Amino acid sequence: MIAVVVAGAAGRVGQTVCAAVEAADDLELAGRADPALGASLESALEAADVLVDFTRPDAVLANARVAVAAGVHAVVGTTGFDLEALRAVAEDGSANVFVAPNFAIGAVLMMRFAAEASRHMQRAEIVEYHHQAKLDAPSGTARRTASLMQGEVPIHSVRLPGVVADQDVILGDVGQTLTLRHVTTDRTSFMPGVLLAVRRVASLPERLTVGLEALLE
Ligand code: NAP
Repeated sequence: MIAVVVAGAAGRVGQTVCAAVEAADDLELAGRADPALGASLESALEAADVLVDFTRPDAVLANARVAVAAGVHAVVGTTGFDLEALRAVAEDGSANVFVAPNFAIGAVLMMRFAAEASRHMQRAEIVEYHHQAKLDAPSGTARRTASLMQGEVPIHSVRLPGVVADQDVILGDVGQTLTLRHVTTDRTSFMPGVLLAVRRVASLPERLTVGLEALLE
C-alpha cells in the first residue's frame, strides 16, 4: 500500500483526489491537510509515502519543501509558481518531486499535437478558459503548451463561471486555420494521471520530473 497525504484536501481538486485515493485498492489516504480542516501538513506527513499538492501558488513550495525534507515524495498539481524554485527544492531534498500543469490525458495530447503543428504552420495563439476563482493567469497548461511550441505564442485568458478548464490552440497559415480544443467537463478527468504519478514518483530517475508525458512513454 502507498500511503498518500493530500494538501488542499478541502479544495475543488483536493476533494476529488481524496475520493480517488480512497477508491484505489493499492493506495491508502493517510491524511488530509487544509486550513479549512484545521489539519497541518507536518503532522499528516508522519505516516506518508507520497504528498499530493493541489493548493495555491503561494503555498505549494513550502509544502513541497516540508515533504522532501521528511523523505516524502511529492506529486504537485498546483500551478502559477516558479518551476525553478521547485527544482531547487527537489534537488536539495531526499525524495522525488513530480509536477504537471495538467493531469488530463487529453490535455497532454493537445500539447503534443500543438508542438507538432507549430513546426508546420506560420503562427499560433492560445485561448484558455477557466472558472472565475482560478488564482493564476495565464494557466500553467497554456504556459507549458506555448513553451513546447515553435515561435512566439500569445496567450489569452478567459475567466467565467460555468467553466472548469478548457483550452484552444489556434494555428494559422495561408488560407487556413487549425484549432485544437481540449474541454474538461469534470475534475475526475485529472484522476487517472494523478494516481499514475502517485504510483510512479518513488521510482523516477530524476529528483524533479515535469509533465505527465514523462510517465506515458
Ligand atoms: P481550491 O478549490 O481553492 O483548493 C485549494 C485548497 O488548498 C483550499 O481549500 C485552500 O484553503 C487549501 N490550502 C491553501 N493553503 C494551503 C496549505 N498551505 N496547505 C494545505 N492546503 C492549503 O483550488 P483548486 O481549484 O482545487 O485548484 C488547486 C490548484 O490546482 C490550483 O493551483 C489549480 O490551478 C491547480 N489545478 C491543477 C490541475 C492539474 O491538472 N495540474 C488541474 C486543476 C487545478 P484556503 O481556501 O483556505 O486557502
